[in-house]
Amino acid sequence: MNDILEQAQVVSFDDTKKAFSGKDDKQLNKTSWLFKLMGNPRLVNIGSKLTLFAIKIGLPIGSVIKATIFKQFCGGENLDESKKVVEELQKSKIGSILDYSVEGEESEEDFTKTKEEIIRIIQLAKNNPAIPYTCLKVTGIAPFALLEKVNSGAKLTEEEQAEFAKAKSRLNDICYNSFVSKVPIYIDAEHSWIQEAIDRMAEEMMRTYNKEKAIVLTTLQMYRWDRLDYLKSLIAIARKEKFLIGIKLVRGAYLEKENKRALEMGYKSPIQTSKENTDIAFDKGITICLENIDIITLCAGTHNEASSMFVINEMKRLKIPNNHPNIYFSQLFGMSDHITYNLADAGYNVTKYLPYGPVKSVIPYLIRRAQENTAIAGQMSRELKLITEEVHRREEQKLLK
Ligand SMILES: Cc1cc2nc3c(=O)[nH]c(=O)nc-3n(C[C@H](O)[C@H](O)[C@H](O)COP(=O)(O)OP(=O)(O)OC[C@H]3O[C@@H](n4cnc5c(N)ncnc54)[C@H](O)[C@@H]3O)c2cc1C
Repeated sequence: MNDILEQAQVVSFDDTKKAFSGKDDKQLNKTSWLFKLMGNPRLVNIGSKLTLFAIKIGLPIGSVIKATIFKQFCGGENLDESKKVVEELQKSKIGSILDYSVEGEESEEDFTKTKEEIIRIIQLAKNNPAIPYTCLKVTGIAPFALLEKVNSGAKLTEEEQAEFAKAKSRLNDICYNSFVSKVPIYIDAEHSWIQEAIDRMAEEMMRTYNKEKAIVLTTLQMYRWDRLDYLKSLIAIARKEKFLIGIKLVRGAYLEKENKRALEMGYKSPIQTSKENTDIAFDKGITICLENIDIITLCAGTHNEASSMFVINEMKRLKIPNNHPNIYFSQLFGMSDHITYNLADAGYNVTKYLPYGPVKSVIPYLIRRAQENTAIAGQMSRELKLITEEVHRREEQKLLK
């Protein structure tokens, strides 16, 4: 027991030596240069628009993007290319969640292709501790407009019913493969106006496949004020019906769109009234999951240091060992290495979401990452501050030699 307490106390997210141990000097300098560029909001704004325009008119800018921002945030253009990054992360005891990040697909053919690609990831992950989980977005295998109609409760036409049955069957094929291969899968959370439909599909899959192990995990966005109640009701259902639940807790990625739509359409926003309330709900969600760890597998999907430390302290309070198989931390590849690497070094289970796909298809994802890392009110981002500290630390080390 003392071991657990001691290890929990020594985790520090300020240890830049550990945080950037995966990068040599050249890689670190390149990352520093990139984060400095992204720190300029005007540049990010203009760059995003120019990139989208260049792609639209067919300018060959793919190689420039691939060597810079793509390399920072993505594993590769395909599974094979991404394997190298998976191996590198594994050397630091960090697992990968390969995320086939192609967005905006709408045809039946595209949905089938995505399903097949996810099944390929599951095959690669089978018996491979470097890839402990996989993930999917339901909008990658089902039409958004159809999910929206299902969500609204409106009656589907016969054609739509058939289309929805096909989408559910694609989801079932993926989850069945996860079950047979013993590779759990996260179902990502999306916009609130399709999320109820996704929740029902995820619940059905958990009921079917989570009898002995949490194979299917759903995602709860704690920026929604109704999610704590949902979490409690899910726990009650699972206890009653005797299945296990998998929960990825996140804050939520669609804040502006959610508030804008609610305002435009005149309904109460599903979003918490302040960031502070989101933070409180996130931490409450963590406590509830840890207190029900006998039936829950939890992933804390966050870049927030206080929340990550909160999980550590709650585990300590509840006397849960660092490497409990039901508890994972996860960050996006290319971000918050100071959290990921320091947690892995302290013996916690940690993974990186590792997106991959053709450069052109992951542009929207890359633009979101660039916007997220832009300086707020001229401040240097936490990421850049730590990278700069590590560059200086290495320079000093060299001088001392
Ligand atoms: C591994 C992983 C998986 C993820 N999967 C998903 C997913 O499936 N679905 C999804 O939607 N997102 C997902 N995300 C993104 C996540 O929801 C957050 O957008 C992102 O991680 C930033 O939140 P944070 O906890 O890291 O930290 P912070 O920087 O502390 O929090 C920022 C977040 O706080 C919330 N927030 C900010 N301002 C306000 C405000 N005024 N009022 C209320 N809330 C506010 C927003 O959610 C914002 O994104 C994932 C993130 C990770 C790391």
